[in-house]
Amino acid sequence: MTVLDRLADVLRSGLGPGRVISDRQELRTYECDGLAHYKVTPGLVVLPRDAAECARTVRACVEANVPFVARGSGTGLSGGALPHADGVLIVTSKMRAIVEVAPDDERAVVEPGVINLHVTHAATPAGYYYAPDPSSQQICSIGGNVAENSGGAHCLKYGFTANHVIGAQVVTPAGDLVELGGRAPDSPGYDLLGAFVGSEGTLGIATRVTVRLTRLPESVRTLLAAFETTDQAGAATSAIIAAGVVPAAVEMMDALAIEAAEAAVACGYPAGAGAVLIVELDGPLAEVEAQFAQVTALCEGNGAFELRIAADPAERALFWKGRKSAFAAVGRISPDYIVQDGVIPRTALPEVLHRIGEVSRAHGVRVANVFHAGDGNLHPLVLFDDAVPGQAERAEEVSGAIIDLCIEYGGSITGEHGVGMDKAKYMPRMFTDDDLETMQLLRCAFDPAGLANPGKIFPTPRLCGEVPRRHKADEPRPAELF
Ligand SMILES: Cc1cc2nc3c(=O)[nH]c(=O)nc-3n(C[C@H](O)[C@H](O)[C@H](O)COP(=O)(O)OP(=O)(O)OC[C@H]3O[C@@H](n4cnc5c(N)ncnc54)[C@H](O)[C@@H]3O)c2cc1C
Repeated sequence: MTVLDRLADVLRSGLGPGRVISDRQELRTYECDGLAHYKVTPGLVVLPRDAAECARTVRACVEANVPFVARGSGTGLSGGALPHADGVLIVTSKMRAIVEVAPDDERAVVEPGVINLHVTHAATPAGYYYAPDPSSQQICSIGGNVAENSGGAHCLKYGFTANHVIGAQVVTPAGDLVELGGRAPDSPGYDLLGAFVGSEGTLGIATRVTVRLTRLPESVRTLLAAFETTDQAGAATSAIIAAGVVPAAVEMMDALAIEAAEAAVACGYPAGAGAVLIVELDGPLAEVEAQFAQVTALCEGNGAFELRIAADPAERALFWKGRKSAFAAVGRISPDYIVQDGVIPRTALPEVLHRIGEVSRAHGVRVANVFHAGDGNLHPLVLFDDAVPGQAERAEEVSGAIIDLCIEYGGSITGEHGVGMDKAKYMPRMFTDDDLETMQLLRCAFDPAGLANPGKIFPTPRLCGEVPRRHKADEPRPAELF
């Protein structure tokens, strides 16, 4: 009997029926997340129904010294929820209760498997919504959003998940249930909730999340502006922000991304555009009207050759349809593609887009750009055909070169999709050994046994007890002290 067989027995007798999956075929359902390039069949899958079952599962893993990985909806694009062949995948899809919606408090309390958009659906009758809106909002879970500190089109004005989570109940990697943060705006002591948000399942599993709700705006206006070049669209974006206007969203698509979106959803964007911007303003009617006039003037002043203003919610939805379906739409013009995710200072947009164009031409690999221009958060889609020998490798090179560009211009290797296992190899390009050791120190404080999602974020899976690399000074590094 293997360790996993014994663990499966323990979990089956400890949890109710139907919580543990060990059938090989069923396990394969969970072998990858949104980054389908990497696949590992998990050793076991457990579907807890509440926090107590989740804690019990983690404790059983600790006792058996078996790694565990949390999974929400599996839409992650960096392989964060990639399972371990000898480990347990803890899936939160049965933990979908919206425990409380409290408009007076502007708070909602939800279980981690709750779908992002469902929080908004629950809050809308009271005049509220949940602001962070990843393009995957119809399917991704709040637990996954917290773990990835996810962003979205409207995070330019409203901030990322970190700005909207005020409390979390968490199962620590030792199996204890703890509360981080709370209902009040701030708690004394170290910001452990801040550390947890964005920790990609390496510091424990969120079992209940308290989020901030945002009042539905009095009015919303949406503009589609077409430009001949991405330079012009980038300049218009910078001009809007420099004028002191903070739109709810500024999204950009280049010619190739537009071509893909048209092929997939016939969104009817202006013909001949080298780039389009979707600019959305929301807030009090008078303010929106005044700022909208400013924004249209700035787009025209920076070369927009066509401006369309959404006349009604249906037209607004059509503007967004092209943008929101762009990732999937690329499948219409290329058999395979890599969704890259890096961030740069917004002012560097025109230059970085040029350099991406140069890299793309030099390698003979097409790159479509569709991204959150207002945040400088790039999503280059690197197109290739896996059936053509050498193309996948060239696409990987282009993808890595784009990450180097982001670092060169003072940005980061990920804007919102996390490091996961996919980008762990890029971490040393951005951080020194000391930086990485310091992060390990924090991780080891939560997870001394290194069982919570090992092999993610850090370039080499290091357990706290392992003898680390020696450094020049040959002195112990902080993480060695644990
Ligand atoms: C079409 C498409 C569009 C996307 N657009 C965006 C976008 O605009 N912005 C954006 O930020 N992302 C986007 N994403 C990426 C993805 O949707 C987000 O990263 C999302 O937050 C993942 O949620 P999930 O529930 O699917 O998490 P999963 O993929 O299941 O897991 C992601 C990570 O979270 C951890 N995790 C999951 N649940 C928990 C928990 N309860 N406690 C602790 N850790 C946990 C996992 O271990 C893993 O490391 C997109 C993905 C797709 C496929």
